[in-house]
Amino acid sequence: MPSTMQDEPLSLATLLRYATTVHADATVRTWTGSGSRVLTYRELGDRAAQLAHALTALGIGRGDRVGTFMWNNNEHLLAYCAVPAMGAVLHTLNIRLFPEQIAFVANHAGDKAVIVDGSLMPAFEQVLPQLRTVRHVIVANGDAAALRAPEGVAVHELDTLLAGHSSTFDFPLLDERSAAAMCYTSGTTGDPKGVVYSHRSNWLHSMHACTTDGMGIRTGDRVLAIVPLFHANAWGLPYAALMVGASLVMPDRFLQPSPLLELMAAERPSFAAAVPTVWNGVLAAVDAAPQDLGHLRAVVVGGSAVPPQLMRAFEDRHGVRIIQAWGMTETSPLGCVAWPPPGIEGEDAYAYRVTQGRFPAPVQARLVGDDGTELPRDGKAVGELEVRGPWITASYYSPDAGTVGSDAFRDGWLRTGDVGTITADGYLTLVDRAKDIIKSGGEWISSVALENAIMAHPDVVEAAVFGVPDERWDERPVVAAALRAGAEADAGVLRAFLAGRTAKWQLPERWTFLPEVPKTSVGKFDKKALRARYSSGELDIVVIDSTSTQTNSDSRAG
Ligand code: ADP
Repeated sequence: MPSTMQDEPLSLATLLRYATTVHADATVRTWTGSGSRVLTYRELGDRAAQLAHALTALGIGRGDRVGTFMWNNNEHLLAYCAVPAMGAVLHTLNIRLFPEQIAFVANHAGDKAVIVDGSLMPAFEQVLPQLRTVRHVIVANGDAAALRAPEGVAVHELDTLLAGHSSTFDFPLLDERSAAAMCYTSGTTGDPKGVVYSHRSNWLHSMHACTTDGMGIRTGDRVLAIVPLFHANAWGLPYAALMVGASLVMPDRFLQPSPLLELMAAERPSFAAAVPTVWNGVLAAVDAAPQDLGHLRAVVVGGSAVPPQLMRAFEDRHGVRIIQAWGMTETSPLGCVAWPPPGIEGEDAYAYRVTQGRFPAPVQARLVGDDGTELPRDGKAVGELEVRGPWITASYYSPDAGTVGSDAFRDGWLRTGDVGTITADGYLTLVDRAKDIIKSGGEWISSVALENAIMAHPDVVEAAVFGVPDERWDERPVVAAALRAGAEADAGVLRAFLAGRTAKWQLPERWTFLPEVPKTSVGKFDKKALRARYSSGELDIVVIDSTSTQTNSDSRAG
């Protein structure tokens, strides 16, 4: 029996229309290093209409991909608004990849135009000659005339391009299942793979981000999006903000701890989001020069495991509540968010807050064992996490209808490559990524658990643990740690510190100390790079002899 309901498609144009009229005075503000460039949502709406006209005039139509090569700023949000609303597809390029990888991704997606920040022109010039499908480059906040472009590529300056166009645009009624945006995985463990979001998936994801069990984004919030707009849709913050008329605060290229703290002092955001490494840096800076962070009602942190120590330090010393979330580019990205159950507070709440989070109704989750059978949700059984739902990708993008990464899907479920447990009441605890888990003497060592235990030492700023081949045990963990300036701890001290916190046979023998742990393009510990540096002998390894310290044979010997 058909319903009587109107069949109104879920379209990002609706969010744009709503935010720019009902919340016309809300703002997006971009930090300049000493103040903010401010655009009201009314002006954002006018400019989005102008950009839609301008892109149409350049021959960009339905389904055409428009790349962005940009920092988080007003102009990037403008592209987020105009491109999908007019029926084209926003493709956020990761500015931190190598030029060859960026070119691979832009060619694979078939980008027809790219919007580039002026300050990124030197990096983009290295990519541009390798781009096969791009016909137009639009420079925002820079001197377009200075960009060296190959023949056949027209270069435009954003403001000049917009000038003269009408500030109203008749945004088309689109099929809600059509493509709105695409994003490639950051390639932490393999080649980047393309995910194509629909209007419907983005819309539903935004609604979830605005629920109290999602990220709780609401009218009146000032949302600081530190997570890049090219990293999994900035975790959904831009469209969530439009959905409720929350204001956005953008850091542009000022991503170091001190400028971020200056920005926060000036703009007093109520909500912020970034990966743990960013908050690690901010914590050190705000510990050294305390400032009021009481304006932050919550900070969502994800992308990699959040060290419990980081949560406690922010809460105890600065009154900032960190909420852990888990997700992937493939999941739009919100999978689960670690809010404790109602009524559970203080110390008791940590048992829930250190998990990766609780799944919401639209994200179904299951754990699957090595033999493909489903495992119980009892908080104990460890298996690969598989998910499905309306904002989870069903495949990877392939320009020629071929199959890319098809082994990541099973019977309509996305295989996440993450390994963990789920409790009966829906909380996920990740043990590790399948590719990072260390298989030592037939048993598993969670690199994440070791990292968290080591980072609990006050002298440790960062610690990444990665597996290396070992003749006796197949694989053993190596610790790469960065210590605080003036720290006195060394491998022996840290190993002794770990001894009370982890099984003896898991205690690492090999340690290396670096000024900073290498990071991926989205700020995660880069274990691929660490393994490569280890095997080429580049790392200075301190070995604490396992026989002399009588460590790693005990548990397996019985
Ligand atoms: P990439 O896979 O290239 O790193 P993504 O940013 O999409 O790109 O990464 C998704 C992965 O990040 C997840 O599969 C998981 O391994 C990791 N991740 C995300 N959030 C968390 C979290 N809260 N705790 C542990 N790991 C996380």
